[in-house]
Amino acid sequence: MNHADAPAPAIDPATAPAVPTARGGAGSGSGTEAADPAGYQGPSLPKDHHRDVNGGWLRPAVFGVTDGLVSNFSLLAGMAGGAASHHTIVLTGLAGLAAGACSMAAGEFISVASQTEVAQAEIEMERLELARRPAAEMKELAEFLTERGMDPDLALEAARQIHRDPDQALIVHVQEELGVDLTDLPSGSVAAVSSFASFALGAVLPLLPYLLGLNQLWVAMLLAFGGLFACGAVVSRVSSRSWWFSGLRQLGFGAVAAAVTFGLGTLIGGNLS
Ligand SMILES: [Zn+2]
Repeated sequence: MNHADAPAPAIDPATAPAVPTARGGAGSGSGTEAADPAGYQGPSLPKDHHRDVNGGWLRPAVFGVTDGLVSNFSLLAGMAGGAASHHTIVLTGLAGLAAGACSMAAGEFISVASQTEVAQAEIEMERLELARRPAAEMKELAEFLTERGMDPDLALEAARQIHRDPDQALIVHVQEELGVDLTDLPSGSVAAVSSFASFALGAVLPLLPYLLGLNQLWVAMLLAFGGLFACGAVVSRVSSRSWWFSGLRQLGFGAVAAAVTFGLGTLIGGNLS
């Protein structure tokens, strides 16, 4: 069954397009050696010889830390700009940390869990279809393989062999039709816990000096800017930017956000007192 018109089952925008051989790409040896794999004597490729093109856990974790840094440091800058007391700043920072981390976790849970639920419904549909019309499904798989460049006869034989194991057939159909790795569906709870933790980690950094009794915005600023630069530099590992460009860009965004709230704090704090 072809799900071409099914409601956007894309589980992760980065998984679907391009590079379908990136996962489990065994046998995708595209080097310069002679093309006959049967006569190939060299070592086989390691299972994961690609950079993780989705960024894996690193990207969401770093973005969570960045969010926590920007949002909580801006909050603190606003309070400090408004000449709030040390006690008020600590209270605000802790509340900001808790509120932000919970909101991130809830948002992330709903987003990931609902995407996975959509995918699971589609997978269930494909499972029924495979049981109900095995011959048509086998033909469909053979056509996919032909489109990928196999001779029709060979494609039919390959589809037949894959269909000997219904579980394997389901994995291949789901990968081909939905672009989803059945053996690696993202979990909402894991996403929620990791975004809670990473946001909290970022949010606590600029709050540290205040927690230790130091009522100095510039110390918080040094910590926040250092953290932002580091986050930007780490993100450059999964992008094509240089680490210093990425780091400075991240620092720049954080500085702008903090300048805005600091300005607001100065303005409103000054007018109210
Ligand atoms: Zn199918």
